Amino acid sequence: MKTIGHFIDGTQFAGHSDRTAEIFNPATGEVSAKLALADETDLDAAISSAAAAQPAWAATNPQRRARVFFRFVALVNQHMDELAELLSAEHGKTIGDSKGDIVRGMEVAEFVCGIPHLQKGEFTEGAGPGIDMYSMRQPLGIGAGITPFNFPAMIPMWMFAPAIAAGNAFILKPSERAPSVPMRLAELMIEAGLPAGILNVVNGDRTAVDAILAHDEIGGVSFVGSTPVARHIYATAAAHGKRVQAFGGAKNHMIIMPDADIEKAADALIGAGYGSAGERCMAISVAVPVGEETADRLVAALTPRVEGLKIGPYTDPATDLGPVITSAAQQRILSLIDSGKAQGADLVVDGRGFSLQGYENGYFVGGTLFDRVTPDMDIYREEIFGPVLSVVRAPTYEEALSLPLRHPYGNGVAIFTHDGDTARDFASRINIGMVGINVPIPTPLAYHSFGGWKASAFGDLNQHGTDSIKFWTRTKTVTARWPSGLKEGAQFSMPTMA
Ligand code: NAD
Repeated sequence: MKTIGHFIDGTQFAGHSDRTAEIFNPATGEVSAKLALADETDLDAAISSAAAAQPAWAATNPQRRARVFFRFVALVNQHMDELAELLSAEHGKTIGDSKGDIVRGMEVAEFVCGIPHLQKGEFTEGAGPGIDMYSMRQPLGIGAGITPFNFPAMIPMWMFAPAIAAGNAFILKPSERAPSVPMRLAELMIEAGLPAGILNVVNGDRTAVDAILAHDEIGGVSFVGSTPVARHIYATAAAHGKRVQAFGGAKNHMIIMPDADIEKAADALIGAGYGSAGERCMAISVAVPVGEETADRLVAALTPRVEGLKIGPYTDPATDLGPVITSAAQQRILSLIDSGKAQGADLVVDGRGFSLQGYENGYFVGGTLFDRVTPDMDIYREEIFGPVLSVVRAPTYEEALSLPLRHPYGNGVAIFTHDGDTARDFASRINIGMVGINVPIPTPLAYHSFGGWKASAFGDLNQHGTDSIKFWTRTKTVTARWPSGLKEGAQFSMPTMA
């Protein structure tokens, strides 16, 4: 049985703790590896290595730091097939979807190849007599990232690429469900020329996370995962005086106006609702058709598409979506489907009995479609994180708009319409961080920033884009006066430019 340890100081490190977790192949239910779960001593080893390496890395000129990322991007492309296979084997998503996961992360590495420009400061000549004022953006020192299982490549790269490009050392604590790709990415960073100690991977569970949150030498913490854990991370890291951004769960709605092309809207909903088995924080889990006629046409278009979904292992190239991540996730999704039926929703396509010959122990859930869902039902209130789509019928645009407006989550939302005026009103009034107009999953590209509102995000700066450079650096402002501007005598009142 393969044992996965940690990656510290440029090399594999078994760790001190004897606690381990099992890694499963979700398609078969078989254990594929054992994972070491770090304790405080393992984290200390990572911090010592990071602290020793960071000052020289921060002093490396930004073009040289950028060149590591140019080489890293080339290596990721070169190893794309190997990385996608590793990712699918632990996560269960299709190979094509794993490549999407890798590429969307790699695009952040491409973005930070511009670090010499991104990290440039500001300068004012002559801010006063003989006075110049300038600001520089300096790294925090050591940053840490705690990532979820559902994007094992993209989200680690969202975090470590800007943090490291800006001159920090970085400790990554990946999901204990899918650690192999993050470990491999760390090796590739070293192969790309990153000095040992600048990117360390510490595998583990809550013990490792809580040690990170309390560690004096970590200046900033970035978290992506579920909302209850995001709240804990935000409060605890802040209580320890750290800069923190914590992104949580979601319940993304898509509004379908009567003038929308229903066939195209249904296609969009199928990809956005069932792709990656619904295990995306930007998945659409609620469809809101406006008007009974739109709703009838939409449900009629969705039903055969959901019934026709090809669910299977990633090794079958015909698969549309794979299993969910664990047996516990499978059981939770099945019981939420039970609750939807018990609470009175119409179960149009029932995925509960799904079974695949040869994969009876895999964590599969069949594509499920509910109609006539209402806001008081558990399937509407909770993030299901599975291949389950709920249709909530709204009589008017205003009532459709009020649903995502009032929902506690605020990650993504979409509207399908041909009417620019409605789309513009929607984008302006909605209280959600990422909005799609005829785009079901409006995930911003690397040079914009990613982040939700309300219970989907805590903290004030987003992932990637220029926000990420701000998050991983702090501003130092220097006011310099040269002898030509010095005045005689002491000055006792506050200097002003009056
Ligand atoms: P999770 O919250 O269970 O785990 C995320 C990370 O936190 C993991 O590294 C895990 O080891 C750690 N963790 C888990 N429980 C902890 C605890 N009690 N104390 C400290 N650390 C703990 O999330 P998950 O199941 O891996 O991922 C799915 C969730 O992530 C969904 O809710 C999804 O919406 C969300 N997500 C959000 C975004 C976003 O950008 N908003 C992106 C992807 C996923």
